[in-house]
Amino acid sequence: MQCDVLLQNARVVDPRNGVDGQFDLAISDEVVCGVERKLEPQDASEVYDVSGMVVMPGVIDLHVHTSRRHKGYNAHRMMARAGVVTALDLGGPLDEFLEFCRNNPAGLNMAALQAVRPGHTTRDEDPGPSEIADVLQESVERGALGLKILGGHYPLTPEATRRIMEVCNEHRKHVAFHSGTTRTPGNVDGLLESIDLAEGLRLHLPHINSYCRGAVRGATQEISEALEALQGRENLFTEAYLAIINGTSGRCTDGLPESLATRRCLEEGGYEATQEGLRRAIIDGYARVGKESSGENINVTGEEALEEWKYRDTVVSVNFPVNPAEGRLLCAVARDDTGDFIVDAISTDGGGHPRNVAVECGLALVRTQGLTMNEFVQKTSWMPAEIIGLPGKGHLAPGADGDVTVVDPERCRPVMSFNRGRLIMHRGAVVGNETTVITTEHGRKAIQDMGLRAYTADTQDGIFYADDPRAALK
Ligand SMILES: [Zn+2]
Repeated sequence: MQCDVLLQNARVVDPRNGVDGQFDLAISDEVVCGVERKLEPQDASEVYDVSGMVVMPGVIDLHVHTSRRHKGYNAHRMMARAGVVTALDLGGPLDEFLEFCRNNPAGLNMAALQAVRPGHTTRDEDPGPSEIADVLQESVERGALGLKILGGHYPLTPEATRRIMEVCNEHRKHVAFHSGTTRTPGNVDGLLESIDLAEGLRLHLPHINSYCRGAVRGATQEISEALEALQGRENLFTEAYLAIINGTSGRCTDGLPESLATRRCLEEGGYEATQEGLRRAIIDGYARVGKESSGENINVTGEEALEEWKYRDTVVSVNFPVNPAEGRLLCAVARDDTGDFIVDAISTDGGGHPRNVAVECGLALVRTQGLTMNEFVQKTSWMPAEIIGLPGKGHLAPGADGDVTVVDPERCRPVMSFNRGRLIMHRGAVVGNETTVITTEHGRKAIQDMGLRAYTADTQDGIFYADDPRAALK
């Protein structure tokens, strides 16, 4: 069989098609053309022996950020190095998202939701249905898949929050909601409110673990409440991440950190919620500081961190190890009474933020037998593809896109990845050099006019608006 790429001697794991075993996998003309016990290398242009590795459908991260604020110009490279092939930017802004897709590519497939933000995309915190419909239409025509409600950061009224979900549902577009409204903060109570607000509607609820940091009733209590409340909610599509760190701002004015989140983290760590408290937290290594290094955003600690914070006049990102293990681990492994996962996917909330650890930490869960390899693939590729509506991705049947991530299950690392048969990353070196933007049919023209490659997604082809969303899993 003639083909472009041949991966030999791998363990191929494709839970959607019930494949798990030693196979060779061939890609030709951008699609998978064969998964067989033995394929002949002389028929292939590129041959890779990947003995001992796992070949899985390309990793899809349902939750990343690539805005300027997140130094998104480094994000594509960071994601590619982390084994990601496809990612959904949860909030844009769309113009920055597209700018970095064009100018800073790393071979990825990228999709975006445009943020609804009072004073920016809407007039105020209580937009009516026609204003919301206009924002949705404009965003979709510019290439977005739908809208993201930024409740936890820029809250809207509960009524407007529900209205946005209604408008997106009516138009069958993707909608995600970072919990929190003008009535309830974005903590576990905000999450419970979100579940009520979404009654009867379809909704992507991101980073479930992050609402359960223990600020209200303790981390253990909060995560069990959250998981209990999410049980059986077929209308909700959820993800959670595995990184311990959050991300916030280190900027101080008049001796105080500007961000309330930063002050809260300092207090939680036993520091004063002041500039001096932050200085001490940085020296001690409790607060890590974001820095750029060789085209990537990294976190530094101690003296180096203090230098950077001072050099930038405190205008840096800082982060703290505030995500409790209970939330991170239970969201990854917890199941409901019928045996289905309560949280659908493993995401990162990474991108430009250096916590693209879905592969690294997810494989560590496989090594410690918290998940099987099949379940890891289900949560990092198959379900995300179903949620976005990408029938050609998330699996490796003949005819599926040649999107592949090769991972080392012993070292818990990505080794190489392909986007439709094109090598984009090999042993940490990023070689991908164009971005494909996943958009709806209404966004194709705008994307192509920017000189970007467009790939059409339709929620009708996935589970987001399916009558029985989890039927595929049964
Ligand atoms: Zn996020």
